[in-house]
Amino acid sequence: MTDLSLNGVHHISCITGDAPGNVEFYAGLLGMRLVKKTVNQDDPSVYHLFYGDEKGTPGFDLTFFEYPGTRDGRAGAGMIHRILWRVGSSESLDYWAERLEAGGVETRRSSDEEAGFFGVGPTGEGDTLLFQDPEGLTHEILIYEGPDEPLVPAHVEIPPEHAIQGFHGARAFSGNREITEQVLGLVLGFTDEGEGKWHLAGEAGEDFEARNGFYFLDEAPEERAVPGAGTVHHIAWASPIDQHPDWREKVAATGLYITPVIDRFYFKALYFREPGGVLFELATIGPGFATDEDQEHLGERLSLPPDFESVREQVEPNLRPIPDITQWRP
Ligand code: ZN
Repeated sequence: MTDLSLNGVHHISCITGDAPGNVEFYAGLLGMRLVKKTVNQDDPSVYHLFYGDEKGTPGFDLTFFEYPGTRDGRAGAGMIHRILWRVGSSESLDYWAERLEAGGVETRRSSDEEAGFFGVGPTGEGDTLLFQDPEGLTHEILIYEGPDEPLVPAHVEIPPEHAIQGFHGARAFSGNREITEQVLGLVLGFTDEGEGKWHLAGEAGEDFEARNGFYFLDEAPEERAVPGAGTVHHIAWASPIDQHPDWREKVAATGLYITPVIDRFYFKALYFREPGGVLFELATIGPGFATDEDQEHLGERLSLPPDFESVREQVEPNLRPIPDITQWRP
């Protein structure tokens, strides 16, 4: 087995009960590019929406499965409860506070004295901005000064210097912190930076840049976790394509159950539940979202991988129409 190294966050997948509202919020207000409109490959009667930078680069792929009308969930033990994003400056945090408030979204600055930052306090990464999506999923934007390239989507109203630049990481409530830490440190190659902060240092490959990912473990609340709208379903860490089979062996060797390699067409996936309850995926860096659509028109039509093309006529009429994304394209 060669030296294995994961390259930060690949994507984070969540649940929504309202695809049209979700597109309005993430593509319209937050300025993310809808890079793929497709269906859930495990249940092709519902949407799977992917938001990203211009290319849908691993490191900025926020995805949502739609279960129309599903009730709001609540993060608890064994779940990720917050998604962390990067911007380039403190002026960008001001910009987002203003834009979100103008869009009717309540925000908090980590420098505010007020308690109750959406249940859990701000991440100890300096000046940050917190807010929730319409279904209660919490986000926190921080100022990133590290070496990773910014991953930036284009939007008619948002100046590129203020655009969200991709994932910084996520915060989770582990249901078994000690063993979660062993999996992070001994199996996946994270470094313990203390106080629940874990760092995954990526290495550049032939056709991708190095990316750093961060995972924070928080004390779980007493209340039971309720999966549903506004919760995170899983987090995927980025694996170089050539290392993917070895990653499966490495995780399996610990005795944890891990799925066979599943071809998701846009990338290959492996899934395992870490013992603290959070569903982890290892996803390959590539082939990517431009494999079945022209780069210029990503996300504009319903994309179905070849194995699903035969069900287009049954599936497409039953999906609710979503807003026209070209209105936000420059
Ligand atoms: Zn996934």
